[in-house]
Amino acid sequence: MIKRALNVTREADFAAWYQAVITEADMAEESGVRGCMVIRPWGYGIWERIQRLLDDRIKATGHENCYFPLFIPLSYFEKEAEHVDGFAKEMAVVTHHRLIQKDGRLVPDPEAKLEEPLVVRPTSETVIGTAMARWVQSWRDLPVLINQWANVVRWEMRTRMFLRTAEFLWQEGHTAHATVDEAREETMKMLEVYREFAETCLAMPVVAGEKPENERFPGAVATYSIEAMMQDGKALQAGTSHFLGTTFSSAQGIKFQNAEGQQELAQTTSWGVSTRMIGGVIMVHGDDDGLRVPPRIAPWQIVIVPMLRDNDEDAALIDYCKGLQAELAKGSALGEPVRALLDLKAAKAATKRWGWVKKGAPVVIEVGGRDMAGGNVSVIRRDRLYREDGKLDSAVVAKGDFVAGAAGLLEEIQARLHADARARMDANIVRGVDSFDALKAHFEGAGKYPGWVEVQWSKPEGAELDAVVERIKALKLTFRNVPLDATPADGTCVFTGQPAVERILVARAY
Ligand code: AMP
Repeated sequence: MIKRALNVTREADFAAWYQAVITEADMAEESGVRGCMVIRPWGYGIWERIQRLLDDRIKATGHENCYFPLFIPLSYFEKEAEHVDGFAKEMAVVTHHRLIQKDGRLVPDPEAKLEEPLVVRPTSETVIGTAMARWVQSWRDLPVLINQWANVVRWEMRTRMFLRTAEFLWQEGHTAHATVDEAREETMKMLEVYREFAETCLAMPVVAGEKPENERFPGAVATYSIEAMMQDGKALQAGTSHFLGTTFSSAQGIKFQNAEGQQELAQTTSWGVSTRMIGGVIMVHGDDDGLRVPPRIAPWQIVIVPMLRDNDEDAALIDYCKGLQAELAKGSALGEPVRALLDLKAAKAATKRWGWVKKGAPVVIEVGGRDMAGGNVSVIRRDRLYREDGKLDSAVVAKGDFVAGAAGLLEEIQARLHADARARMDANIVRGVDSFDALKAHFEGAGKYPGWVEVQWSKPEGAELDAVVERIKALKLTFRNVPLDATPADGTCVFTGQPAVERILVARAY
């Protein structure tokens, strides 16, 4: 058996493997604050790449960035009962603005109690809606298309790094429109932006669709999501887009005079993705040697490691590597300049090599004295680490050829990661399960990684839906979404026996 860089495999313990990747790739660590993590440079660098690429898309679709306060007065939430119901259990609240010494300890000063408590934002519909009410008077002021990059706090009980943290980083888009049609169009447009972004940039195949009623955002008329399949077959909700109707415009008073001179409530939307996406990238692309970062979101795409010997040859070797780095940086791949790093840290070359393998840099170049003498470099591809005989696949290539082919290589790695993930997802969505018993049998009998099942259902609502949700919950299952591109229903509902109206995905989920 090949010795792998991590000391736990996906097969042995997927949860422990996930945590090992985060630690060994220097992505994040415990902060000492429950549910909150320290994001280290490699993890944050990936987030910055995500921000850059997604921000371009958000702006290209006509939105502008802005910034709202971290603190939201409690009364803003009180205006919208359903919304507050959804978030009340998870809110961090600031009640004092000063500390005093008491018995040698610092405690909140009872004299400095806030008149109105402030909620640390779990999401910003209420505060942004309040501003929109000021900005919008006439139909001419619409649409309002804004986005905010921020941190939010939801006091989650069970947290896991990147996937579910108490504080997380995200972007939240908020828009207001004159008509239902326009707002619905916006909701779908941003869902498509997320879908395309996940596939193109994260190399992460997703299913875009509508969430059932029980999974809707608190206050939303309709919630849509992109769902990604992790290597253990579980689903991860990787982004959401909500059509909010007039829920927030009536609570916050976002009104406008239409062209006929009548007062109307605006139709609003919101949409967000978070640092959770990084957890998805780990669980979609990682392997038993650590992370594999798709080139588009890799902070460094090509890392050059000189095999220094502490002798007279070192200076020439470093020059040779600097030349290579400069030539690579002149090129562009995947529509951007190539990001090449020369790693001159004081560590053994082998330590550096495995460090970059665990971090998942797409390409690692090693250069020793013999490579330099022959005008060559040794190339390690992170997507194809081993040869068939189990040895590390390090190919000696002429330096000029490597430089000339670098862009193509990065494009190939990006495409290959996506194709592999797509094949895995397609192979693990089961269709044709036509009864509840068959659904149960599938998840009880399919072993460790049962994947997802698409079933036909009658779209029950209210109490009837609650009963169905309880039944699948007993099997540790959840509804994911009704895929936009699913074939129309033509059978009976596996839950109610009534004629089915659509197809929905059922899966275990993070
Ligand atoms: P929401 O406002 O609830 O629709 O959330 C928007 C997106 O943020 C979701 O689709 C998730 O991808 C992500 N998200 C929600 N809660 C968390 C959390 N506790 N930690 C990280 N990401 C989250």
